[in-house]
Amino acid sequence: MARIYYNKDADLKVLKGKRVAVIGYGIQGRAQSLNLRDSGVDVVLGLNLKDETWKRAKADKMKIATIPEAVKSADIVMMLIPDEVQKAVYDKDVAPNLSKGMTLDFAHGFNIHFKRIVPPKNIDVIMVAPKGPGALVRETYLSGIGVPALVAVYQDHSGNAKKTALAIAKGLKATTRGVIETTFDEETETDLFGEQADLCGGASELVKKSFEVLVEAGYQPEIAYFEVLHELKLIIDLVQKGGIEGMWDGVSNTAEYGGRTRGPVIIDDVVKARMKILLADIQSGKFAREWVAEHKAGMPTLTRLREEGEKSQIEVVGRRIRKMFE
Ligand code: NAD
Ligand code: MG
Repeated sequence: MARIYYNKDADLKVLKGKRVAVIGYGIQGRAQSLNLRDSGVDVVLGLNLKDETWKRAKADKMKIATIPEAVKSADIVMMLIPDEVQKAVYDKDVAPNLSKGMTLDFAHGFNIHFKRIVPPKNIDVIMVAPKGPGALVRETYLSGIGVPALVAVYQDHSGNAKKTALAIAKGLKATTRGVIETTFDEETETDLFGEQADLCGGASELVKKSFEVLVEAGYQPEIAYFEVLHELKLIIDLVQKGGIEGMWDGVSNTAEYGGRTRGPVIIDDVVKARMKILLADIQSGKFAREWVAEHKAGMPTLTRLREEGEKSQIEVVGRRIRKMFE
């Protein structure tokens, strides 16, 4: 059973007199830095690019510095920029300004787990990963409840690394809901597997293939779109609320009988065997090497797949249907 921590297990005083440098003011950076600031923590942003997020930080009246300045002045550094740029920014602007006893915090384990970032031995390395997108992290903070989070310790130089991680989680109000302890290995590998096999990759291909089958059989694409894509959210809302069994309670008996008997025919043990291969590629670092090389090469494959996706029939139809909901 996973260990879960709550408000009583975390102490905000751990952050008293300490300065937190939040690198990045995007989806997570904005939500986490506003939450910590409102929890009374001394927050400075480390921003190098004068982009939209910089303007937003100005408008939010946040304290802003360059990344090297922010890191130098801080006790805790939170790396909240995209995973694929973290190594370059870390090597150039973060690492040279770290000193003994500091804490480096991540919201995802990718760069540490795959050793793209190799921190010095004399600092703490932790993870606080809210289980929700940035907007929700902020909204739920304002309504007083937070979203659950994961915490992990990779390196505990001070002996207090977990206390620091739990204090940050409390500053985000995540401990109100509960914070689950994990490891960098487990978080990284399960996160990549989930987004590839199930959430982003698996679910979108299931939708696309179902759409193609109906359209190729002569049904109207608009009707197919509603059926296989639009309604997915209604079903997933039921699953999230009551689990899979709860979902069956919320649909007709016909849907339940058809789904329970036909689902396993579509997603069968052959699919499961391929999922295991996919997991092995994640565990061995093969996927990470491929993704890093893709990024280095200027993302040729991703660019091509995006272009193909935009032109596909399901997107063309979808743009029309979604207008009906505007
Ligand atoms: P994001 O794309 O929103 O980050 C944007 C910020 O990074 C901006 O402030 C931008 O100026 C800065 N930035 C981008 N490129 C830069 C560069 N080359 N140099 C300096 N600054 C640069 O990132 P995000 O989605 O918030 O992800 C941050 C971390 O949080 C990642 O580790 C991610 O895996 C993790 N995470 C994200 C979510 C989410 O809701 N998006 C959820 C859980 C964990
Ligand atoms: Mg995830």
